Amino acid sequence: TSPLTAHGLPTPDPDPRDRILADVSALRASFDAGTTRPLEARLAQLEALGRGLRAEEPRLARALAEDLGKSRTESALTEIGVVSQEIAHTRKHLRSWLRPERLSLGPLLAPASGELRREPLGTTLIISPWNYPVNLTLAPLVAAIAGGNTAIVKPSEVAPATSAALAHLLRTHLDPDWVRVVEGAVPETTLLLEQRFDLIFYTGNGAVGRIVARAAADHLTPTVLELGGKSPVFVDEGTDLAAVARRIVWGKFTNAGQTCIAPDHLMATPRTLEQLTPHLTRAVRALYGARPERSLDYGRMVGTRHFDRVLGLVDDEKVVIGGTVGADRARRYLPPTIMTGVDWGDPVMGEEIFGPVLPLLAVDGPDEAIARIRAGEKPLTAYVFSPRREVEERFATETSSGSLALGFTLAHVGAPGMPFGGVGESGTGAYHGQAGIEAFTHAKPVVRKPLRPDTLKLVLPPYTGIRRRV
Ligand code: NAD
Repeated sequence: TSPLTAHGLPTPDPDPRDRILADVSALRASFDAGTTRPLEARLAQLEALGRGLRAEEPRLARALAEDLGKSRTESALTEIGVVSQEIAHTRKHLRSWLRPERLSLGPLLAPASGELRREPLGTTLIISPWNYPVNLTLAPLVAAIAGGNTAIVKPSEVAPATSAALAHLLRTHLDPDWVRVVEGAVPETTLLLEQRFDLIFYTGNGAVGRIVARAAADHLTPTVLELGGKSPVFVDEGTDLAAVARRIVWGKFTNAGQTCIAPDHLMATPRTLEQLTPHLTRAVRALYGARPERSLDYGRMVGTRHFDRVLGLVDDEKVVIGGTVGADRARRYLPPTIMTGVDWGDPVMGEEIFGPVLPLLAVDGPDEAIARIRAGEKPLTAYVFSPRREVEERFATETSSGSLALGFTLAHVGAPGMPFGGVGESGTGAYHGQAGIEAFTHAKPVVRKPLRPDTLKLVLPPYTGIRRRV
C-alpha cells in the first residue's frame, strides 16, 4: 500500500528517474560511510542472503516454473543450489581471499615493503538475463557483497515472475544500504546506464553488451561482460558413444536449450555421426520420455518471440527426432530436436541457437573441427569427447574459448573454484568464488619505504654533472 499524504491521498509514485537517482545516491552515501567495508558486515549480509534464499525457495521455484517451466529439481540444481553453494564457499574463504598479499619489490627499492590489498570498488550495477534468472542475478551479487560493494540489481523483464520474486527476496531480506532492486526493461536500464557506477556486471547477449560497454565508457566505468556464442562439441572416433550421448543430450536440452554454455552444435566424422545418432535419440527418450511435452523435467521457451525464432531455425527435412510438427506455440513447447546433414551455411549455423535444437555436422576429423572453431568467434565454452589425450591437448592449445570441458558438458559452471567467463565475443572478465572477488575489487599495492637510509638519493639528478650550454 502506498503511503498517504497529509490530505489522505496516496502519494503518486515518484518518476522512475527520480527513484533510480535516489537509489544510486543512497547506495553511494552508504558506501562512502563505510557501511560495506567490515568483513563481519559482509559475512552477515551473505548470511542474510542465504537465509532469504531458503525462506523464499518455494516462491522462486514457482516463479521459475511459470517463466520457464523449470522443474523443482532443476531449479534446485541449477539455480538456487548454485547460489547457496556460492554463498557457503565465499563465506568459508572470504577472510583468506581478502588477506593482503606480500609483494616482493626487488633490490632496487630496498629497504621497502609492500602488500596487495583487495579494495572494494564502490557502487556497482548488476544487469542479468532471463535464462537462469536466479543464479545469474544472485551469484554476481554474492561477489559484489563479498567484495565490500553496494549494488543495484536489475533482473530481466523477460522472466517477469522471477524478477518479481527476486525483488521481493532482496527487499525483504537484505539491507537497503547494501542492495537495491530496479525492475524494468529497456527504459529503466537506459536510465541506470546513464548513472555513474564503479563497475557494471552485465550478463546477456553481445548486442546489448555493446550498449552497456558504450554507456560505461562515458564514465570510464569498468565492465564485466558475460556473453554467449556458439559453443561447439567435437566427438572423436573410438569414444563410448552411449555415455557421450547422454551427457550431450542433458547439456543441450536442460532448460530447453536456453543455456549460455549449452552445446550449440556437434561435429564428428560421418562414420561417428552415423553411430552416434541412434544413441542421441535413445538418450532423448531416456531423459524425457517418448512424449517430452508430458515430462515434468523438460522446460518451456521463455516467450513466443524466442519460440518463433528457434522454430524458424528448424528444417524438418533434416530432423531425426523432434521438429516443428510437435511444437505448441500456445504452451511455448518446442520438442528436443536433432537435425542431421546440416551445412555450415544453414540458418541454424548463423546465430547462437539458444533453444532445444542440436545440429549435427560432418567434419573430416580433429583438424577440420579445430579449423571450424578458429574460423568462428571465440565461444563461451567448447566440448571435446575423445579417448586420445593428444587430441584433447590440441583443442586446449589450438582453440580459444571461455572454458574447455573434456568428457562432459555444463557441470563445470557449478564448480566454485573455476573462474567462469568468456573471451573475445563471448565476454570479458570472470566470476565465481575467488574470481568474483577479483572482479569486484581493485588490487591495490600499498608500498612503504623508510626515509633512512636514503637510498633514493642515488636516483636523483644531477646525473651527469655537465652544464648545458645556453
Ligand atoms: P535479456 O533479454 O534478459 O537481456 C539481458 C539484460 O539486458 C536484461 O536485464 C535486459 O533488461 C537488458 N537489456 C535488454 N535490452 C537492452 C537495451 N537495449 N539496453 C539496455 N539493457 C537492455 O537476455 P538475453 O540477452 O536474451 O540473454 C541471452 C543471451 O545471454 C545469450 O546470448 C546467452 O548466451 C547469454 N548468456 C550468457 C551467460 C554467461 O554467463 N556468459 C549466461 C546467460 C546468458
